[in-house]
Amino acid sequence: MSDVILPGATLGILGSGQLGRMFTIAARRLGYRVRVLSPDTDTPTGQVADEEIRAAYGDLDAVAEFARSVSVVTFEFENVPAATTDIASKYAPVRPAGSVLHTTQNRLREKNFLRDNGIPVPSFAAVRSAAELDAAIDSIGLPAVLKTASWGYDGKGQVILRQKSEAAEAWAKLNTDEAILEAFVDFEREVSVVAVRSCDGEFAYYGPIDNDHHNHILDVSFVPAGVSDKTHQQAIEIARTVVDKLELVGVLCVEMFLKHDGSLLVNELAPRPHNSGHLTIDAYATCQFEQQVRAVCCLPLGSTQLLSSAAMANLLGDLWESGEPNWPAALRLPEVKLHLYGKADARPGRKMGHLTALAPTAEEAVAKVRQAREALLRR
Ligand code: AMP
Repeated sequence: MSDVILPGATLGILGSGQLGRMFTIAARRLGYRVRVLSPDTDTPTGQVADEEIRAAYGDLDAVAEFARSVSVVTFEFENVPAATTDIASKYAPVRPAGSVLHTTQNRLREKNFLRDNGIPVPSFAAVRSAAELDAAIDSIGLPAVLKTASWGYDGKGQVILRQKSEAAEAWAKLNTDEAILEAFVDFEREVSVVAVRSCDGEFAYYGPIDNDHHNHILDVSFVPAGVSDKTHQQAIEIARTVVDKLELVGVLCVEMFLKHDGSLLVNELAPRPHNSGHLTIDAYATCQFEQQVRAVCCLPLGSTQLLSSAAMANLLGDLWESGEPNWPAALRLPEVKLHLYGKADARPGRKMGHLTALAPTAEEAVAKVRQAREALLRR
């Protein structure tokens, strides 16, 4: 049994967005204190944490002092610099470990890791110049998706290529030293599994969760996913292999494409709770954020029993375009839950909150959560 970090201890989190906020709420419910480090103030996480420390992730003195003051360091976004986790790990355990970040921060390293472990991924090639892009197109074919190797999320830093004549412009537009060209997958649906692995190697999972994207941003997620039992089992086995091979301690989301022939391909990994797992707060016995707390504190994992079919709809800043959304109109609907992240500035495309609806079937839950979101625009 690894060293347990008991309630009452102080947990440290790097990053201060909504994922950190929901982690902090779960941690405080379990009786922990939480300290957050990020370059901002009055953040979604800072608003609910015991203490908010403002420092750049590259300020290694501040990171060292932060790590000294907590029992464990975790994070809520994957682009924490390696130097930051390295220095933090001198003073406190970092969970998941910096090695997991190293693999998942770079799409090429991530895809190589998956392929080397026998996990199916779309065909891909490394691209470091316009000439390499031409060669990659010849080997992979078109259409294909060109993505920056690092720092991409929600469709940012990616271009779909349909003709070879678009290659030079796409390479220039990406403005990067290193990219990946992936075969474009004509998928039936996108699913994710949120996996959890404890200090002792115990495994738990949520899903597969069915995900609908709009403009490359997650729009609606629901459970149970519309997949066969065989696909369900395959998705779970892929997630189990990924977290075991990474020796993960924490939560990690595996995003997958389900092809029309029923096979699965992994799109990407996120070594933290995930937007598609937000419905676990209202629909499962233990949510993904409580599991992150339990895992990084070396506690036993909680039950991942599904209590009800459910759907989650993201609330983007666009909803604020003509003024404050009509919250009472959505909350009037029974079994609809509102989660807001405390962000003051509602920019288009910015994730401001989400709604979750419970219902006897996934289909009804999706209809209900969409109805609730539409009600927000009623004046
Ligand atoms: P990503 O940032 O890689 O998660 O991509 C965001 C979204 O773009 C995915 O959820 C898909 O909807 C779409 N996408 C990414 N890669 C591919 C691909 N190789 N083929 C088809 N669609 C893709």
